[in-house]
Amino acid sequence: MNKYIEETNSGLVHTYNRFPLVLDRGEGVYLYDEKGGKYLDFAGGIAVSGLGYGCQELNDALKSQIDKMIHSSNLYYNTTCGHAAEELKRISGMDRVFFTNSGTEAIEGALKAARKYAYKKQTGRYEFIAMENSFHGRSMGALSVTGSDAYREPFEPLVPGVSFAEFNNLDSVKALVTSQTCAIILEPLQGEGGINVATEEFMAGIRKLCDDEGILMICDEIQCGMGRTGAMFAYQSYGTKPDIIAMAKAIGSGMPVGAFAMTEEVAEFSLEPGDHGTTYGGNPLACMAVSKTIEIFEKKNMISHVQEIGAYLAEQLERLVQEKDCVIARKGKGLIQGIEISKPVGEVTNAALKEGLLVISARGNVIRLVPPLVIEKQHVDEMIDKLSKVL
Ligand SMILES: *Cc1c(COP(=O)(O)O)cnc(C)c1O
Repeated sequence: MNKYIEETNSGLVHTYNRFPLVLDRGEGVYLYDEKGGKYLDFAGGIAVSGLGYGCQELNDALKSQIDKMIHSSNLYYNTTCGHAAEELKRISGMDRVFFTNSGTEAIEGALKAARKYAYKKQTGRYEFIAMENSFHGRSMGALSVTGSDAYREPFEPLVPGVSFAEFNNLDSVKALVTSQTCAIILEPLQGEGGINVATEEFMAGIRKLCDDEGILMICDEIQCGMGRTGAMFAYQSYGTKPDIIAMAKAIGSGMPVGAFAMTEEVAEFSLEPGDHGTTYGGNPLACMAVSKTIEIFEKKNMISHVQEIGAYLAEQLERLVQEKDCVIARKGKGLIQGIEISKPVGEVTNAALKEGLLVISARGNVIRLVPPLVIEKQHVDEMIDKLSKVL
């Protein structure tokens, strides 16, 4: 790491292996460092910056909300917040929304909502089944359902009653079901875990299993939701509907906001006044970001755009699989794609940075591509050029 970076960042806890890059500003799908160096962004702030950088309509809305009111707490109603909840309801297919400040908190809330449901129904159910290679966050609850031994181990004992099934293996899920199973939690497309797409049979099988056994189905849509797979929420491209979903990342286009949402059937027997809360969660500024993001998504026809550009990206990545010996396979959907490679991913992501391309990794030696959703074909071509060179 260079001396300048070290000196200007020595006050931070060393929890990240950061790239040796000091970012200063963004424009469209490009980011710029302090010296004006230009980077094509296929990391999207980890699948957050769906609208890219410097979206004037979003920025103007946020600025005027700042002048009006940033925060009022959840002790009072606020129309911006109410509107954002209505909009999220409409696009997510859920009936009730609780705003959080992050994805992790959305997961915490989703788990609590499921526990409260069991409590109120007096079923005595408390166990969770989660998936291997899943990622749900770093707090004690979210970590408890995260399928990575390395992440969990240093912090054990965690929340009891969690077991892990093999993703896309329904039998392995069934084998873990007991009369105590409260909920099954999964990402319809695992992001951190290696860009693993749930099969139709798996999603349908989980839904049926939940219905048959009186278990709630929780979908973590934090990374794969909000248009990224070419559906507004990833679950919507399957013929199944979860009982609870967790959202965050792209829903606020970079403002820190998440949410968990549930169906009316769950809400009726779940969280009540006093059960859950947050001081900042869903403040007017965060909620303005959500409402405006949805409005701009619909105006720009973002879903069909993602389908079109996503198909093109997949095609170009398949070409890399054919042409490069070190590229083993392509995985993903829409604008959340990955390539499994045989070279060390760290070397490739660092070499890409030197070429002016930002890409990140995922488990299983995968290069993860989660660009702003507003990218065009020319940006895919530019990325492929740079990545080919690096590989
Ligand atoms: C990022 C992520 C989280 C955690 O969200 P934070 O906002 O970082 O707390 C949880 N689940 C998935 C699938 C994620 O990608």
